[in-house]
Amino acid sequence: MRTAKNSDEAMLLTQESNLKPYGPEPYAYIQWKGTDVCMDAFCVCGNHMHFDCDHAYHIQCDECEAMYYCNPYIELIKLESIEDEYRATLKRDEEEDDDSSAKK
Ligand SMILES: [Zn+2]
Repeated sequence: MRTAKNSDEAMLLTQESNLKPYGPEPYAYIQWKGTDVCMDAFCVCGNHMHFDCDHAYHIQCDECEAMYYCNPYIELIKLESIEDEYRATLKRDEEEDDDSSAKK
């Protein structure tokens, strides 16, 4: 388990260890952007927590009060087959990109 003195130091840890322009493993960063999230979290004390909230940059255990910084790093798992429903997701994203370029 990694620890940091505060949120700023935790953010630096994620940048130092995860911001690799190219590497053997695919990865991504998400931007919370204040949007709501549904999250199951497991504290080192054994407590299982469920969060449905906005602005989940940090979470706190309601048993031992440990505070955690939510790392925006996510693992990407390569799929060996592509189903049509996933193609539809990609198409939606491309349409959003087209909208943003049109405004420039
Ligand atoms: Zn805990």
